[in-house]
Amino acid sequence: MSQREFQTEVSQLLQLIIHSLYSHQEIFLRELVSNSSDALDKLKYLTLTEEPYKSLAFDPRIDLELNEEAKTLTVSDTGIGMNEEDLVSHLGTIARSGTKNFLSNLSGDAKRDSNLIGQFGVGFYSAFMVADRVEVVSKKAGEEQAWRWVSDGKTGFEIDKAERPQQGTTVTLHLNEEGKQYGQSWKVREVIKKYSNHIAFPIYLTADESEWDETEKKSVKQRKTEQINSASALWKRSKSELKDEDYKELYKTISGDWEDPLFWFHTKAEGTMEYTTLFFVPSKGPLDLYQADYKPGVKLYVKRVFITDDAKELLPTYLRFLRGIIDSEDLPLNVSREILQQNRVLSQIRSASVKKVLSELKTIAENKPEQYVQFIEQYNRPLKEGLYSDFGNRDALFDLIRVKTTKSENWTSLAEVKSRMKEGQKGIYYITGGPADQLRTSPLLEIYKKKDIEVLILSDEIDEIIFSAVDKYGDLELKAVNKSSAGEDLKDESDQDKSEDLKPLLQKLKSILGDQVKDVKASMRLADSPSCIVSDEDEPSMKMQQMMRAMGQDHMPTPKPTLEVNPDHEIVKKLLGSTDEKLIDDSAWLLLDQALLIEGLPLENSGAFVQRLNRVLSRAV
Ligand code: ADP
Repeated sequence: MSQREFQTEVSQLLQLIIHSLYSHQEIFLRELVSNSSDALDKLKYLTLTEEPYKSLAFDPRIDLELNEEAKTLTVSDTGIGMNEEDLVSHLGTIARSGTKNFLSNLSGDAKRDSNLIGQFGVGFYSAFMVADRVEVVSKKAGEEQAWRWVSDGKTGFEIDKAERPQQGTTVTLHLNEEGKQYGQSWKVREVIKKYSNHIAFPIYLTADESEWDETEKKSVKQRKTEQINSASALWKRSKSELKDEDYKELYKTISGDWEDPLFWFHTKAEGTMEYTTLFFVPSKGPLDLYQADYKPGVKLYVKRVFITDDAKELLPTYLRFLRGIIDSEDLPLNVSREILQQNRVLSQIRSASVKKVLSELKTIAENKPEQYVQFIEQYNRPLKEGLYSDFGNRDALFDLIRVKTTKSENWTSLAEVKSRMKEGQKGIYYITGGPADQLRTSPLLEIYKKKDIEVLILSDEIDEIIFSAVDKYGDLELKAVNKSSAGEDLKDESDQDKSEDLKPLLQKLKSILGDQVKDVKASMRLADSPSCIVSDEDEPSMKMQQMMRAMGQDHMPTPKPTLEVNPDHEIVKKLLGSTDEKLIDDSAWLLLDQALLIEGLPLENSGAFVQRLNRVLSRAV
C-alpha cells in the first residue's frame, strides 16, 4: 500500500468546497454521475473506432447502490476506468488550469459558487461534503490490474492493488452525518431526476424498498434494482412531444446551471444533410464569457454518440454563450480534431446554425420585447463582436444589437434610430470613449443637441474598435463625432466667415501650444463649451490611445489631437480682441487642458494647469 499527499491546491479546494457549498450538497451526485457518463462516452467512442476496443464487451450503465447498514452510497460505471497513474494524477492533483481559475473565482456565495463547480468541473471532490471516506476502485479498459484509491479528504490518499471483474469505476461514499439523507432511495431518485434525467446512459438504483406484503399483513423490505432516469437523447425526439419542462431539465443536465435558460432553439434538418441542433441561451452570461480560454458550451454528437465538448470551431466565437448540442448523421465517428476544423459537413452545419440562431433571436426581439431586453443585458457585447468578425451576417446582427442614445436611455434598435433621422442628416453619429455618464456631457454633443440630431452613446470598451471598423449600417454611414470630418457635415455658410475672422487667434494659439496639438481650428460643433479635441479620421481617438498604452501597446507614435475652439463663445470672442499676451498664453493652455479633462484624459502637467487657473482667477476676482 502506498500513502500519498494531496497537492496543496487540492487540500485548499476540498476545504473551500466543503465550506462554501454546504447548502447545495446534493450536486455531489450530479458530479459523480456526470463523471461516470463521461467515462462511458469515452469508452463508447473507442469501441466504435479503435481496434483493440472494438471487440470489448461493453454494456454501458451507471449503477447506484445503497447499503443501509454500512451507510454507503456507491456510484459505479462500466466506462473507461483509471489505472494507478490516472488515479494519482486525476484525483490527487489539480492539473487543469480551469480548476485554478475556479479557485480564484470563488465568491463565498454558495449559489454562485456551486454554479462555478459545474462550469469548471471540480466535481469529484464534492463527494467529501457528504462522506468522511471515499473509496474508488477502478480498472482501465484493456488493462488487467485494478486499483483502489481511498481518502478521508483531509491530507492525502492511499493507493493499492484491488480486484474488479470488469473495466470501469466504482466510487463508494461512506456517508457522514450531513450526508445521511443520501442513504435514502427517495432522495437519490429525486436528485437524479432533477439533474441527471437526460444522461444518455441508463442509471439503475439498487436499494431496499419497503413493500406491503398481503399475506404477512405488514411492510417488508425487498432489495430491488430499477432504472431511475429516462436516458433518451431527448433532442432526437420531435418538438411536439417535448414540453418546456423537458427542455429545462435537459439544459440543467448539460450546462450545470441552476437557473432556467432564457430560451432555446431546436432544429432538425433533413434532406441533403441530416442533423439536429438544440441551442440554449443561459439566463446569465457564463462566467468565462470574456476570457480568451473560455470553455465552449456546445457538445458534438455523431448519430447520438458523444464526440467532444471541447471544439470551439462548432460555432463562431461571438456565439460562445450558447449551450447545447449538435448531432450529425453524416459525419464519421472517428472525426479527429484536424478534420473538425475543416470538415465541409460541419462548416455547413455551423453556418446554418448561425443563421437559425440569429433569425430566432430576431423573432424574439419582435414578439417578446421584454425577454429580449433580458437577453441584450447579457449578450449585446458578444453580438457586437459579431459585427466585426462575421461580415456575412452583418445585416442580421445590426438588426439584433441594441444601443442607448442621446434621446433614449432605454435600449433602442438602429432601425428605430434611422427612422428618427432629421431631414438632410448625412449619417448616424456616435460617441465612444468612456462611461455613458461622461459621454453624455461631452461638448462634442452640443451641436447635435442644438440641431436635435440623435447620437448613439457607445460606452462599451470594445465599441470604438468595432465601430471604427464597421463604418456602414446598410447604406448609411456611421460617423464618430470626435472625428474631424463629422464637424464638416454640420457646417453652414455663415460658419465659413466666422473661421476667417478667427484666423489670427487660431494662429496665435497654435504657436503657443506647439507640438501638443496637430492643429487649432474653428469649431462648428460646439454650443456651450469654448473648446474640444478631435482626432483625424484614420487615427485612434485620444481615449483609445490611452487604453492602448494601458495595455502596454505604446510602441506606436501617438498622434496629437486637433483643438477646436467655439467662435461664438464669449471667452473666444474676448481673446480675439485681447492684446494681453500673458492672458492669451494662459488661456491657450486652459482651453486645451479643459478639453482633455472633459474627455476623461489625464493632464501631462497638472501643476502647471493649477497655476494658470489661479492666475486667471485672481485677475477675475
Ligand atoms: P472533471 O470531471 O471536471 O474533469 P473531476 O474532479 O470530477 O473533474 O474528475 C477529475 C478526473 O478524474 C476526470 O477528468 C476523469 O479523468 C477522472 N475521473 C473521475 N471520475 C471518473 C470515472 N468514473 N471514470 C473514469 N475517470 C474518472
